[in-house]
Amino acid sequence: MDASKLFDLKGRVALVTGASSGLGERFAEVAAANGAAVVLVARRKERLEALKTKIEKAGGRAVTAQADVTDQTAMKRAFGAAEKAFGTVDLFVANAGVVEVAKAVDMTPETWRKVMGTDLDAVFFTATEAARRMIAAGKPGSIVTIASIAGYMVERGLSAYAVAKAGVIQATRALALEFARRNIRVNAIAPGFISTEINSDFLASEDGEQLKAKIPLARFGTPGDLDGTFLLLASGAGAWMTGSTVVVDGGELLMAG
Ligand code: NAD
Repeated sequence: MDASKLFDLKGRVALVTGASSGLGERFAEVAAANGAAVVLVARRKERLEALKTKIEKAGGRAVTAQADVTDQTAMKRAFGAAEKAFGTVDLFVANAGVVEVAKAVDMTPETWRKVMGTDLDAVFFTATEAARRMIAAGKPGSIVTIASIAGYMVERGLSAYAVAKAGVIQATRALALEFARRNIRVNAIAPGFISTEINSDFLASEDGEQLKAKIPLARFGTPGDLDGTFLLLASGAGAWMTGSTVVVDGGELLMAG
């Protein structure tokens, strides 16, 4: 089997949320580099436009759609714009996410809601919107959610994030079961620490250095460390995978016992 054919995304239409930075930017570039037409969704329009130009310069196809993932009307508009530009989205990447650090005793309902709204509710409702449109078009497809090893372990100050990411793992399984007969696969990636805007200050701190020392593979990840897993779940290479969460973390979860 030719690996480039196995992971090929030619003819596919990908929509990536949170494409304005970090992992989302990388998933969009990797999808485009492997043949997909890509719809870049986030709130920061200039960042999306810069990425669109970069993808086009590299020979890919991309459009941008500014939307907040917690705004269902705006997300419907983004899916509509995607359809108009390239056709029904058949690769949906629910990547946008936020982290809020707060001790449980100091957690406000607003902070809790912000994390749940973005990291869990929006993943569920954008994934169901994507599936509804694939079903209406009679198209098979793949949905990739971005969980975290925090969905399996807990850290002080990260209760809301851990609960939301555990929810993403279960939502991924629940949706995989409901969509399987439509040949829509739903799988999650659970990354460990990868330096991006969400955590770069913390990872560069002394606490970050101590954390790095505990990672069995002895380094933080780079966005490129997820390329293979992303392509596996997105493409025909993962045709018989659904409901899975693939942990990619340099072995960190092993240390959680
Ligand atoms: P990041 O901060 O660089 O990217 C997050 C993206 O989501 C940004 O583009 C941000 O603008 C966007 N976003 C946030 N809220 C949004 C909203 N309401 N509407 C639209 N876009 C919104 O961080 P990242 O590391 O690239 O994170 C991407 C995903 O990976 C997140 O779900 C995060 O929880 C997950 N993750 C990251 C790590 C890591 O170590 N970097 C580890 C595990 C999981």
